Amino acid sequence: MKSLTHLVILAMMMTSGITAQENTHFTNPLIFDILKGNYDPADYLPAFPVDDPFAISEDLINRISPDSMKATLLALRTFHNRNTASDTMAVDKGIGAARKWVLSQFDRYSINQSGRLVTGYLQFDQDVCGMERHKNVLAVLPGRDGSDPSCIIIEAHLDSRCADNCDINCLAEGMEDNGSGVALVLELARIMSSYVYDHTIVFMTVTGEEQGLVGSNAFADYAVTQNIPIKAVLNNDIVGGIICGETSSPPSCPGLNHIDSTQVRLFSFGGFNSAHKSLNRFIKLEYQEMIRPLAPVPMMLTIMSAEDRTGRGAIIYHSGKMDMLRSVLPPLTNTETQMWLTRIIMTVSIPRMISSV
Ligand SMILES: [Zn+2]
Repeated sequence: MKSLTHLVILAMMMTSGITAQENTHFTNPLIFDILKGNYDPADYLPAFPVDDPFAISEDLINRISPDSMKATLLALRTFHNRNTASDTMAVDKGIGAARKWVLSQFDRYSINQSGRLVTGYLQFDQDVCGMERHKNVLAVLPGRDGSDPSCIIIEAHLDSRCADNCDINCLAEGMEDNGSGVALVLELARIMSSYVYDHTIVFMTVTGEEQGLVGSNAFADYAVTQNIPIKAVLNNDIVGGIICGETSSPPSCPGLNHIDSTQVRLFSFGGFNSAHKSLNRFIKLEYQEMIRPLAPVPMMLTIMSAEDRTGRGAIIYHSGKMDMLRSVLPPLTNTETQMWLTRIIMTVSIPRMISSV
């Protein structure tokens, strides 16, 4: 997977003309140590570890909060413009204020779990629309099995854009693309940090997606050069959409204005026998056996044969798309709430599944 990711990175760099990133490092050195496996898992175990898959599945139903995700969406829109090259100095506008806010949320979740989440930035230098320095935001949940440090990444891009890819002044609230994915990642970090998983889990919001997966590439490149093992990557971009043509378009969905509220699509690279498709099949099987019986609204999982767009976005997993404005403003209906819960429950369960792969 890493080598494939690397190839994609190189291809993107060659076609975009973007130079390679430099000075890449974690602002919190503990993150590097954990991702290299140099830590004592006992330091991060809760007083009363919960690791039983059935207990977790049942517990999730009560703990996941649509209100929490809605609060994230409403907060993200206040930053006005989250372009990769937007303001980093203001306290309430631009990508800088937005990433500080995300970090503060991760820190808040960590405090509630006795410091089990290790938070910080992956900082790197690269010229994107005239901005030189960039930061992905991370919250790392160290795994219990120190013998295998390979991590599972759950990510979404934080940056937004207007038609002009470098416009840093336009109104770019980006609630669908990709406030929805960020809300999902934050909610997952909040909930999952109370459970115990074998593998280390990295919750990450990346920057520069709109300029060519810049933030994801920085992480992937750094992982390759520093020999940081990655087991799986679950990317979430515009999650939860139901109307084809609003936030997705054919062939990713059947046709304009087609409404589909009960399907989650899994996008990934590779052919039928690839590791990516195998992981998707495992996710689907696990969902059907472990989650669907508990879900208020049973969802259909569809393994898409191709990635969402050629060479784009999701490395392994790309949730279904939805018009978040319709589902969140006005407030969620019962059906929409249940749909969100089901999607979240499914996603929360994935690292547990992967741990046994
Ligand atoms: Zn996006």
